[in-house]
Amino acid sequence: MNKQRALVTGGAGFLGSHLCDALLAESWSVVCVDNLLTGRQANIDHLRNEAAFEFVEKDICRPFDVGRVDYVFHFASPASPVDYTEHGIETLQVGSLGTFHALDVAKKYNAKYLVSSTSECYGDPLEHPQKETYWGNVNSIGPRSVYDEAKRFTEAVTMAYHRYHKVDTRIVRIFNTYGPRLQLNDGRVVSNFMKQALRGEPLTVYGNGSQTRSFCYVSDEIDGFLRLSKSNEHLPVNIGNPTEFTILECARLVLKVMGSKSKIAYEPLPQDDPKQRRPDITKARTLLGWEPKIQLEAGLRLSLDYFRTAVAAETSTAK
Ligand code: UDP
Repeated sequence: MNKQRALVTGGAGFLGSHLCDALLAESWSVVCVDNLLTGRQANIDHLRNEAAFEFVEKDICRPFDVGRVDYVFHFASPASPVDYTEHGIETLQVGSLGTFHALDVAKKYNAKYLVSSTSECYGDPLEHPQKETYWGNVNSIGPRSVYDEAKRFTEAVTMAYHRYHKVDTRIVRIFNTYGPRLQLNDGRVVSNFMKQALRGEPLTVYGNGSQTRSFCYVSDEIDGFLRLSKSNEHLPVNIGNPTEFTILECARLVLKVMGSKSKIAYEPLPQDDPKQRRPDITKARTLLGWEPKIQLEAGLRLSLDYFRTAVAAETSTAK
């Protein structure tokens, strides 16, 4: 029997690579396309000898064709504030041009399509928790706009291909996700805190740490993607863990899990940093029967080995 073939753009990234693993485990043949701007070969090294896996280094901001595919998972984009600030233009390009090209592949092969969007579509939300029906509070010219507006445009193009070209699309709005393969230097709060605690450095809390986030462990997040991919829902669906923490609580939890005595150092809050974020996941619960299973403390423990190894590797190459 011929295997179903999935294309994963951004497949060497944090979430993209976990998605490749999950699809291979479900017997898909996977073609992973990534230009390695923020994705890393190390995330897919373990798949090198996998017959059903193929890696193509390519920038999807140019039209591309990797042959017949049955499903397009469009995950290419810098995604952490540090990465998309450094690569602002590329972020806008992949969200716009890259999305057209990924959708063109789906249209050409009559493939199903799922795109990664983000809680950043809600901006600094005035509605809390955030339901999919909330239109958001986004600064279109601020430092985060390169990502927020790129993803809002991604959603618009996706809905247009669905409406005008009848492409069978899905949109997942991803909330803060963490776990193994988070890049040590992506500046995300979990990577920073884990790295700082392991090095015995102070944990850098921006502002007074009262801003909130809701953290989803990567295996729960991927389970949500797979369920959505099998559904017929075309409108956006939030996938994230609804348990909300202040950033200070998150710092204290990291110290507890690590048994660390690191201090907390307060640093200025970045501009337009959202004050609160928590998904309303009623839609994912009712439509997909999805529920996150791993809470933050357990997830941090599950991530420990990865961060230990990554910090040790960084320390040894720095010597
Ligand atoms: N943050 C922090 N210290 C850090 C990194 C981030 O206090 O070393 C804060 C950041 O200001 C934000 C939250 O943690 O309020 C989450 O930041 P992250 O970059 O992980 O993602 P965001 O949710 O802002 O996209």
